[in-house]
Amino acid sequence: MRGYVRVFVMTRQGIYIQVPFCQTKCTYCNFHTGVVSAGRFAPYAEAVCREIRGHRELYRAAGVELPERFEKAVVDTVYFGGGTPSLLEPELLQRMMEAIRGTFAAELSEVTLEADPETVEAEKAEAWVRAGINRVSFGLQSFSDKELAAAGRMHRRADIYRAVPILREAGIGNISFDLIAGLAFQTKESWRESLEGLGKLGPEHVSVYLLEVDEGSRLGKELLAGGARYSAGAVPGDDLMADFYEMACEFLEAAGYHHYEISNWAKPGFESKHNLKYWRREAYLGFGAGAHSFSGTQRWANAHDAAEYVGAIQAGRLPAEQVEGVTRESALEEELFLGLRQLDGIDVGRIEREYGVALGMRFRPLESAGLVMRDGDVVRLAPARLSVSNEVFVELMR
Ligand code: SF4
Repeated sequence: MRGYVRVFVMTRQGIYIQVPFCQTKCTYCNFHTGVVSAGRFAPYAEAVCREIRGHRELYRAAGVELPERFEKAVVDTVYFGGGTPSLLEPELLQRMMEAIRGTFAAELSEVTLEADPETVEAEKAEAWVRAGINRVSFGLQSFSDKELAAAGRMHRRADIYRAVPILREAGIGNISFDLIAGLAFQTKESWRESLEGLGKLGPEHVSVYLLEVDEGSRLGKELLAGGARYSAGAVPGDDLMADFYEMACEFLEAAGYHHYEISNWAKPGFESKHNLKYWRREAYLGFGAGAHSFSGTQRWANAHDAAEYVGAIQAGRLPAEQVEGVTRESALEEELFLGLRQLDGIDVGRIEREYGVALGMRFRPLESAGLVMRDGDVVRLAPARLSVSNEVFVELMR
């Protein structure tokens, strides 16, 4: 399939590194992550380094053609996600950073490590900073021990209060907290306590996710089957989840955070540079098992299974699974879907010019239903409808 080439001059590029290992499996987790022995970490990191260094040849053999402008691209953001990348020995993170610096033109302004609070120690945090990590994204999820225990998390509230000062002491000036609305046993009171706990620690960035109920997690399966395992009976309903989201919007706005994406808030200047690339359809290369990449003309993903990934890379082959050209239609759908996730909205005029389409009719029913607002050329989700954004996306993609 011929790829659709969006006309833009790309000079900046992000790199995502997937570390698919965890200490335990959280009940709500629908990611492809595994609990493995620490002995598997080093060979995995080595495979990622090989993929980074040899990516051009590996891509070519797998049918991925990097556009020419990649030659001149500068890597400015790196994101270690997972899984729990903070489980790795810092030396392994350091090696992957060296592979990036040795392979790409790098002017790194944001290097994020996803971390779980119980994995943070002073020595490790100092080594992270030496490796170039300057942002830590914390999977806190809640400040309630009861909710954390029911979700199968390893950390407790005390670990959060212990870990944050360690990071600050080590020199991490950009910390993000993740909270989940919809955990078992969550009430309006406990949710407020989590928001207040967050407020006391003052991270620069906050992500609030709504619990996803699908077949991909043990809890999701149980909920769909109407069972009671994994505290499924204590999971709040949709209306309460929407209330939690509204409470977060109010609390975070009052605390000086700028709501810039449906699930993300930042203090001024601390919006995630890396994640903005996803929402703005800018290029990023993903390395590691299950990592996704987008070149502007193609999207692809590596095999999810870590052992299969390591074996393939050792054999000199990229285990790319879904190499797809980006068609004009799919690019337009992404523009709308990803654009509406951002609170600045979509510049309809630009999209109409770029894609040669008229979008007025597409938005009119949503406007009439009060789901989106139009202000000149800009269309954005109506503030009161943010918590039902999925409904808007379904309508828009019809
Ligand atoms: S720590 Fe994150 S990736 Fe790992 S099992 Fe829990 S939710 Fe999944």
